[in-house]
Amino acid sequence: PYSRVLEIHKENLSPVQTAYFQKPLLLHQGHMEWLFDSEGNRYLDFFSGIVTVSVGHCHPKVTAVAQKQMDRLWHTSSVFFHPSMHEYADKLSALLPEPLKVIFLVNSGSEANDLAMMMARAYSNHTDIISFRGAYHGCSPYTLGLTNVGIYKTQLPSGMGCQSTMCPDIFRGPWGGSYCRDSPVQTVRKCSCSPDCCQAKEQYIEQFKETLNTSVAKSIAGFFAEPIQGVNGVVQYPKEFLKEAFALVRERGGVCIADEVQTGFGRLGSHFWGFQSHDVLPDIVTMAKGIGNGFPMAAVVTTPEIAKSLAKCLHHFSTFGGNPLACAIGSAVLEVIKEENLQKNSQEVGTYMLLKFAKLRDEFDIIGDVRGKGLMMGIEMVQDKMSRQPLPKTEVNQIHEDCKDMGLLVGRGGNFSQTFRIAPPMCITKLEVDFAFEVFRAALIQHME
Ligand code: PMP
Repeated sequence: PYSRVLEIHKENLSPVQTAYFQKPLLLHQGHMEWLFDSEGNRYLDFFSGIVTVSVGHCHPKVTAVAQKQMDRLWHTSSVFFHPSMHEYADKLSALLPEPLKVIFLVNSGSEANDLAMMMARAYSNHTDIISFRGAYHGCSPYTLGLTNVGIYKTQLPSGMGCQSTMCPDIFRGPWGGSYCRDSPVQTVRKCSCSPDCCQAKEQYIEQFKETLNTSVAKSIAGFFAEPIQGVNGVVQYPKEFLKEAFALVRERGGVCIADEVQTGFGRLGSHFWGFQSHDVLPDIVTMAKGIGNGFPMAAVVTTPEIAKSLAKCLHHFSTFGGNPLACAIGSAVLEVIKEENLQKNSQEVGTYMLLKFAKLRDEFDIIGDVRGKGLMMGIEMVQDKMSRQPLPKTEVNQIHEDCKDMGLLVGRGGNFSQTFRIAPPMCITKLEVDFAFEVFRAALIQHME
């Protein structure tokens, strides 16, 4: 029973594993974009288990492939070959531009970024790594140093965690901008038009140069960027900003890493990878979440030169990386994205969704900004547009909870948890967007009463 679940959660699960909602949801079943709780209530999943269920919960084709593979072979470890790993590597590499052709399979986004950090250091023979304010790249001890958003900022004592002696070579670039005035860098965007209208690029480039030139951050090994900052509340950069930042890092001998953990696999609609929408070519691409539609798997893709330089420095290994079941599922996910035209659906339904939700900005003074691309959207809540102060957490929580009670699951993000994050499975329809819109609007009206 539900009460026993709560007891076990309290007694036997770590308190760092917090749950959404005052009365956490106990989910029993999923079908495509819908989830069902223990009492049979259904919820439209507008967050995909944190931007992960790319093609739909229990997608029949993916499930059938997984079941078939389970009957055949579960595990070998990467020291033995098995066809599903090689088939997957072949398929995935075909989706990346030259010279990004060498794949290392791992199990989570954090692991992928850890490995990317080691590759950057091995290749450049430098130590310093740069990530942006507001970044989220994982929570392993290494990647926690890269992460810099809201609740994930660590307070571990010095010497035991990141932003301390364990990884002292990580520096913050500028960015991290959201709509709120309390944000470390405030976005200059005052309307909900595309970020192309931002005039701020020059200012951020100057700040970025300052970071690169600080006396400590001199030997740049690598620069990490999410094509759109996800956990920070779907925050976009001014046009051309990443392109110039990449050039500056390369001038100093560093490599550029695109963290596609949230933005890859067609979610942004216009392109298969987020970096393509910035017209940049990274040296290393990391991916996880949507890659396995919820099955744990992740990958790092890089150039032959970078891959070779790592091999000279260390013998890296992962017991489960490239697992037969994960690779079979990964292949099925790629096939479904293609067969069902899901990237195009992200583009079409995403554009429809953004236009529709952007209208709420005019109707409600507590909506500061509605932004995004494809099926990744952020709705930033403020006390009012004049003050641009984040809406207090308790109020955001209430709206969040009310949406759930009316059958809609949305995510949260931003430095103050002030932004609703929307990222449904890519099979979502316009009709379902209409339903989500009505629910979200009703929750806002209820809040204003
Ligand atoms: N990078 C990004 C952009 C992410 O959003 C996340 C997870 N939220 C990670 C890395 C870490 O992935 P994981 O939780 O699988 O370690």
